[in-house]
Amino acid sequence: MLSFVEGQFRGEKVKHNVIYMSRTHSQLRQVQKELAKTCYRPSMAIFASREQLCLKESLGLLRGKEKVEACGKGVKLGKKIRKEMMSEQDPKVLEAACFFHKEREEVVAIGKKRLANTLLDIDIMKEMGREEVFCPYFYPMQSKDFTSLFLMPYNYLLDSYLLSNYQDIIENSIVIFDEAHNVSEAACEGRSLQL
Ligand code: SF4
Repeated sequence: MLSFVEGQFRGEKVKHNVIYMSRTHSQLRQVQKELAKTCYRPSMAIFASREQLCLKESLGLLRGKEKVEACGKGVKLGKKIRKEMMSEQDPKVLEAACFFHKEREEVVAIGKKRLANTLLDIDIMKEMGREEVFCPYFYPMQSKDFTSLFLMPYNYLLDSYLLSNYQDIIENSIVIFDEAHNVSEAACEGRSLQL
């Protein structure tokens, strides 16, 4: 916070994000309700799992590693079909391919047009994703250059594996821990090994 204030006084043009964290998404929903009562409308994004944000219905029952792998495969196939302008006929290939994943530039354009300065929650992200055809799971990372408020559960920062993915968002950010009495327990979970 202090470096942010000092930077403002020095007139630095560094982009400072606000990362607002709580233990669960239902607690974050309370924050969104409170935000709705204010006139504060930053461009925002919500980090959540593929289980919560994936739009590809055929992956609906998959969980964890299986879902991650099916998503990776779907994204690759979708890109290949689009890039090569293939009119793929094989229903199995079409079923496996995901066409929601877009390149970053396309997502940024959609975000600026439809989502900037709008209060978002998981349902709105999914609705927009379906309407504009983009993946809400990848949206926070793809939109990070113009997003200034990120909502996420603690484990995104306290789990060392997940943390490595978000390092550049965290730099120069103000990180707010809501319900901070739960942080130590979440940190222990994030740094624990199961044998
Ligand atoms: S890119 Fe998004 S919508 Fe497509 S499979 Fe992965 S998580 Fe689901």
